Amino acid sequence: MNLVRALCCSLGVSLATPLFAGAALAQTDATTGSAVANPGETSSIDMSAIDSVDECMVALICIDRYLWSLYARTPKTDTIKVPEQIKAAVKRRGKTRTVTRTITKLVDEDFTWKDPKAAARFGMSPADYVIGGMDQSFRITLYHALRALDEAGFMPGITSAFRDDYRQAIAAGQKAQTDRSYHGGSFRGGYGHGLAADIVSVKGETRAERWASSEQLWKWIDTHEKELGIGRPYRDRDAPHVAPLDGKEYAAHRVEPNTQHAELKAKTRQRVALRSDHGLLKHVRAARPSRAQSRLQTRST
Ligand SMILES: [Zn+2]
Repeated sequence: MNLVRALCCSLGVSLATPLFAGAALAQTDATTGSAVANPGETSSIDMSAIDSVDECMVALICIDRYLWSLYARTPKTDTIKVPEQIKAAVKRRGKTRTVTRTITKLVDEDFTWKDPKAAARFGMSPADYVIGGMDQSFRITLYHALRALDEAGFMPGITSAFRDDYRQAIAAGQKAQTDRSYHGGSFRGGYGHGLAADIVSVKGETRAERWASSEQLWKWIDTHEKELGIGRPYRDRDAPHVAPLDGKEYAAHRVEPNTQHAELKAKTRQRVALRSDHGLLKHVRAARPSRAQSRLQTRST
């Protein structure tokens, strides 16, 4: 138990938090004396090597639990655009005609169901899917960054982490092609290789309040990205999306001075790709939010 306590405390994790049920269980076992080893029997084994492996395991479990708790506490609602057909009376040359117009309505969407559904297809628990699908070292970087945000009073939350191709296909808002997502698309290595997470602030009673505190959190990430080791490759075009600072996605979109050049090249490539598929072009045009709405619809959820 001392090992668990030492590790969790060195990570800045409080054992008083109910999240660390595993740590609490370990404590119970230790007090009943069921796991006491006789030191004489293991003198020929290098216990320090085994201990260091144990330390790693416990630390990683604590990290995953913390990340999951931040995911679990975060409301998963977004604003999406829904086309709606309405009938309107139009006067033309003195005659009144009824025409059908398509308007776009902004509707709140609850996307809580998406990750559990994708996890079930994988035959996994949502926690193993959402958190376990991320790259191991990214999870550690993300953990420290989120702890720093929490300590700075931002109350961070996670709305999305690992996403496989299926989950990416049912995501709304700004998103990469199904298999290209750094959240874990198959082109990027799939499960265990997710290198992105969407983070917001859960501070505030209403969505408007939480949006305002999220904007402060994102700004804080921008000014502290070097210390945090994570950054926002798309800034406000996909505000909650964070990636490791030393990763490919960040390099492709944010590293100066070639940022603009790279973005221009990407846009040209996109245009060429779209020209070959008119159906897709229509879809993309219809889905592109207006400037006024883009603030509401920057998450790929
Ligand atoms: Zn994202």
